[in-house]
Amino acid sequence: MPNLRLRFLSYSIMVYMLMAFAWWALLLFTKNRDAFHAKRELMQIGMVAEGRVRSKAEFEQMAEYQSLAKKYKRQEYMIFGEAMVFVLTLLAGIWFINQGYQKEVRANQQRRNFLLSITHELKSPIASIRLVLETLLRRKELPRDKSEQLTNSALRENERLHELVENLLLSAKLESAYQPFFEEINLAELVKDNIAKIAERHPSARIVFDVANGFPMVKMDKQGMISIVSNLLENAVKYANDRPDIEIRLRHKDGQVTMDFADNGTGIPDKEKKRIFEKFYRIGSEETRQTKGTGLGLFIVEQVVKAHNGSIQVIDNQPKGTIFRLTIEDKR
Ligand code: ADP
Repeated sequence: MPNLRLRFLSYSIMVYMLMAFAWWALLLFTKNRDAFHAKRELMQIGMVAEGRVRSKAEFEQMAEYQSLAKKYKRQEYMIFGEAMVFVLTLLAGIWFINQGYQKEVRANQQRRNFLLSITHELKSPIASIRLVLETLLRRKELPRDKSEQLTNSALRENERLHELVENLLLSAKLESAYQPFFEEINLAELVKDNIAKIAERHPSARIVFDVANGFPMVKMDKQGMISIVSNLLENAVKYANDRPDIEIRLRHKDGQVTMDFADNGTGIPDKEKKRIFEKFYRIGSEETRQTKGTGLGLFIVEQVVKAHNGSIQVIDNQPKGTIFRLTIEDKR
């Protein structure tokens, strides 16, 4: 509310300024015209008295009058030009203020959404783990396979919590203190490990890994790469419809690594393709959204890719879904 009042106040001031300026410009116009007419009459009377001209037509042919008229026209153009510059500057100012305001409103909304979703994201695995532990405690004679099943589900929830905390820490670090540590890593293995983790959590997902035999060692930030791969894979599964069909392609050429993460999910509308990389940004509204998330994943992915002098493209997959194409420099 105070924001709205402030906005109303600034617009009122600007409208007042515009109106005041229009009035001043009009006044200047009329004063200039009056001064011109007065000078012109004086000049004409003087010339008639001296006997240099007899009619108005003759007077208007005189060089003195011509120069006076020219000066008047010039002043008129000047006033008009100045007025235009002023109005345009003021309009540009209003536009910038409005843009800034809209941005602020969006950022606030995203921060609120983030808080809502993070609370939910933290609470649900904690509650699940607690439930498992309570069950194990209460029912000591549980069959071995049942207790193993429960323990595994608690471990999966724990893993989710761990990834969430990693994302939170990394996104906070990315703002200021992130320094990639470049080391020789086996990227193909790293991707394979992540696929195995996701496959365990989502047994219905079909995940194909397309990589040539003997994919070389590369020099990259290992932690950063793990974040990229796990976030993109997690999204590919999360935003798929019922049966995720995912393909990851890994290539190495001319000191560059390209990684494609292709899914058969909901797809991303063109107008959202840029915004999804903003911190806390999630498509749609918090009320209607079905999926869990914080809006940090793609922000992290883009920042880490940038720290590797890389780029990222969002391409529509056929017949549906999305391909995230990463091009990353191998620092070797
Ligand atoms: P989160 O998944 O936590 O919401 P992200 O930053 O990872 O945050 O993603 C931002 C938004 O981009 C998501 O909310 C989702 O709407 C959209 N998105 C990301 N990946 C995909 C995908 N593979 N398919 C469709 N939409 C996606």
